[in-house]
Amino acid sequence: MLIIDGSLGEGGGQILRTSLALSLITGQPFRIENIRAGRKNPGLLRQHLTGVTAATTIGNANVTGDAIGSTQLTFVPGEVKAGEYSFAVGTAGSATLVLQTVLPALMIGTDVTTLTLEGGTHNPFAPPFDFLQKSFLPILKKMGIGIETSIEKHGFYPAGGGKFSIKITPATQLKPFNLIERGAITAKIARALIAHIPYKVAERELSVLGRKLEIPEDYLHPNTIKTSPGPGNVAFVEIESQHVTEVFSGFGERGVSAEAVANSVVKDVRNYLNSEAVAGEYLADQLLIPMALARSGSFTTLPLSEHSKTNIEVIKQFLEVDFIVEKIGTREWKIEVRSP
Ligand code: AMP
Repeated sequence: MLIIDGSLGEGGGQILRTSLALSLITGQPFRIENIRAGRKNPGLLRQHLTGVTAATTIGNANVTGDAIGSTQLTFVPGEVKAGEYSFAVGTAGSATLVLQTVLPALMIGTDVTTLTLEGGTHNPFAPPFDFLQKSFLPILKKMGIGIETSIEKHGFYPAGGGKFSIKITPATQLKPFNLIERGAITAKIARALIAHIPYKVAERELSVLGRKLEIPEDYLHPNTIKTSPGPGNVAFVEIESQHVTEVFSGFGERGVSAEAVANSVVKDVRNYLNSEAVAGEYLADQLLIPMALARSGSFTTLPLSEHSKTNIEVIKQFLEVDFIVEKIGTREWKIEVRSP
């Protein structure tokens, strides 16, 4: 049994999710200790527990330690079965991170899966649904996986109550990607989502984004969300380039002005555009598992986050792959996977 230390590196939930994902794929049982030891509230939260339940159900696994607050877990996977599944976090905990847990195992094989996930769809510190739909999942499609997504209800912190579905048509073998150059920018789009909060907030965010990032009026989209159970606000900027689309987000919170939310997005977009990297910080840590499963591939990115460094370490414990990380420019790094 593989022993994983959950306090490794950045010591968050990603260590657990990557372990569950790769255990399902390799059939390798593992025990994880010190779960989320690097966080203020260590142990399993509802969102992580829902990820464990999803992995256990889909992978016919035997699990111990699957309780709220648990800092240790043992996971012995069985056979992964495609099919129709629904999982609900039950709080505003991120439903997209539940997807991150089981998607890798469902994207390799022969049979189609439909997943319906309920919880937060637009949470700080997790991939917003729009990021998955426009940035991450299109790369999986290029790897040969069929993916269709739809969102029924938006779920924002703290009310949650979002719901989305994803249909996954797996591939028997993943096509490697080499995302070294992003190519010319084909569009810059800003969107401001508002649910049960004044329309003016969206207008103020878009005004800052338009002015500071030189996005023309026609590409500034306010979007009133009527299906969300609770209030919420996110400002997005999508940078569409020839070979990749990056999505940057800022979350509205009480006590933070619309201008401050937009300015945090401006900073991230400028940081990305001042480099030639294909993947921003978040896309980078999420591309590592698919790239490793293809056993070859590469991409360029900004300086590696602790998340990416930690994810590399965890992946290497489950798969026989080498990661070559190289600084290739003043602001750009290249990550390459090789299989011995
Ligand atoms: P953890 O902090 O370990 O729970 O992991 C958080 C995950 O959410 C990582 O895979 C991040 O890449 C991802 N993530 C966090 N914030 C964003 C964001 N704004 N856009 C896209 N992905 C994000």
